[in-house]
This record gives sequence, C-alpha cells and structure tokens, in this order.
Amino acid sequence: MIPQSITQVDPFSLIKHKSLPNDWRAQMREAYRTPTELLTALDFSPEQQVELLAHDQGFMTLVPRAFAQKMRPQDPTDPLLLQVLPQAQEAISHAEFNNDPLEEARFNPVPGVVHKYHGRALLIAASHCAINCRYCFRRHYPYDEQKRSRNQWQESLNYISSQTDIEEIILSGGDPLALTDSLLFDLISAIEQIPHIKRLRIHSRLPIVLPQRITLELCQRLEASRLTCVMVVHANHANELALDVAQACALLRMHKVQLLNQSVLLANINDNLECLKNLSERLVDLGVMPYYLHLPDRVAGTTHFFVSLERCQTLVAQMQACMSGYLVPKLVREEAGKLSKTLYSPN
Ligand code: SF4
Repeated sequence: MIPQSITQVDPFSLIKHKSLPNDWRAQMREAYRTPTELLTALDFSPEQQVELLAHDQGFMTLVPRAFAQKMRPQDPTDPLLLQVLPQAQEAISHAEFNNDPLEEARFNPVPGVVHKYHGRALLIAASHCAINCRYCFRRHYPYDEQKRSRNQWQESLNYISSQTDIEEIILSGGDPLALTDSLLFDLISAIEQIPHIKRLRIHSRLPIVLPQRITLELCQRLEASRLTCVMVVHANHANELALDVAQACALLRMHKVQLLNQSVLLANINDNLECLKNLSERLVDLGVMPYYLHLPDRVAGTTHFFVSLERCQTLVAQMQACMSGYLVPKLVREEAGKLSKTLYSPN
C-alpha cells in the first residue's frame, strides 16, 4: 500500500510519449539514444533541432523515456533536458578541468574496487547507467578496463575479504541497478558471505530516472539481506520526482530500505533557492532525506555546469534561513587524496 501522503495529486504534468512498457529492461532498450530522437519526442521543430544539436564528445546520449516524459515540450531551458542533452560548451577545454578530477585511478587496489576512505570500499558493480548525465564525474572513467562480470567480481571480493576493517560496501558504477536481478542478487549474496561487512549501500539514479526498476522482487531481496541496506538516490530537481518515483520510493521504504538523496549543484538547472527548496521538500514528502549537495567536480567537458564555491555557500545559507534544518543537505566536495569529503559551511 502506498502511504496516503504521496498518492495525492501529482504536481507535475507528464507529456505524452508513447506508452511506457512496464518491464524496466524493455525501457532500457527503448531509451532515447540520440539528441534527435529526444528532441523529436519533445516536439522541437527541425529548425530548432539544428540550433540545439551539438557533438557528444564521445559520451553518448542516453535518456530513459520515463525521465524524458517529465521534460517540458519545446523548452530548451528545461532543467531535466539540460542534464542530458549534449551542448556545444562541452568542447570548451580548461586547464583546471580534466578526465579524472578525483584521481580515482590512484585508489584502485584491484580492478573494480575504489578503496579511498576508512571503513568502506566502493565496488564498481556495473559499467553502464540507465542515463548519461552530461555533468557526470565518471564520464571519462575507463569502464572497459574495469569491466565487471560474474567471474571478474571474484578478485574484488577477495580483496574486500582480506581487508577486515571494511564494514560497508558501496555498490556503484555505472549504476548497480542497471544489472539484471540475477547478477545483482548473486553479487549481494557473495558480499553477505564476508563476515566483516555490515552494511550495503547502493548508489543509484534508477529509482529516479527509471523507477520501474524498483520491483517487488528487488525490494524483497534487499529486505531479506542480513546487511543493513541504504539506497542513495540522485535527484537534482523536483520535476524529476513525479508519481512513478514516489511509488518506487514507497516500495523501497516498505521493505525497510533507508533512502537518502545526493544532488549536484548545476548552473542553470538548480542553482537557485526556489529549486533547492522545492527539491528538498519534495524529497522529504517521498520519505527521502536530502543528504548531500555536491559542488560540481571539475570534469573535462562540464565547465558550463560549474557553480563557484561562494555561490554554493550562499545558496545553502539561504536555505538554512528559511527551512527546517533536516531539509538542508550538507554541502560537500570530494577532493583527490582527502580521507573524507570536504564539508563546507554556509556563507
Ligand atoms: S547516473 Fe550517475 S554515474 Fe551514471 S551518468 Fe548519471 S551521474 Fe554518472
């Protein structure tokens, strides 16, 4: 049963794309894979499309229809569209923006594992996502070198078994929920066999961009785990959080999965008080705690998303001034070589 508070009238009107299949794998197959497909679905004229089309800089367009459905037709400033549409500014190079700003390659003790922070390790469970976010800090990540399969996980699991101070495994990627149930459940079972692991954290954008992935089978498997399950979802704008997402979150919560959200502050997408306030309020309505607000990483091809530290701090100060404390996420930045995220106080 979906809690009453989130079955109320959905504030976002959905544009009518062709009806979505219920099966999430079919939706993965039917995702928009070129800007032209996406812009056509959003009713942009051929002339407008010519103006908007830009080179993808080797990071292909990938947008699930469930996400595109929440974009405003014929609006080139739509905050969801701007997150996924290749733009000409991606060709801008800047000395401070590079392919691996977090220097993750330095923290790969074995392929597929990033062990940077004390007590937890990140396992690259999947080498693909359901969506390609243009600002992604892993848009240049060498997934081919780190590619995981059922057999190749063993080396990662052996490493984790050997490090008895690791208590938490973070499944990341790519997106771990882009794996089939069969692969994902086998991986969870293997992690459960490691006695010192207490918590499983799943970092995923699928509950937001393809909420049909949150099936009863998945939720039941997570609830049955001996591990405490936390899911960190990733929404940047309240328009992403329509009724289908609310239902997915409710199902996860009913199966005792704790839900947190991390967002990235992105220029022209959510870098104003009203957007951030709406996002936090909508998240809490869905039972998701606004957890981290990330400063954008200096990733090559993303200069147009950048928001300065001062501006970010001012925005968080404005949030604090008008919202309950639990609605205000922590402003953080991940920095190469640091033993934890850097936490910034508001201005
Ligand atoms: S879902 Fe996450 S990892 Fe995948 S492209 Fe988007 S930001 Fe990057």
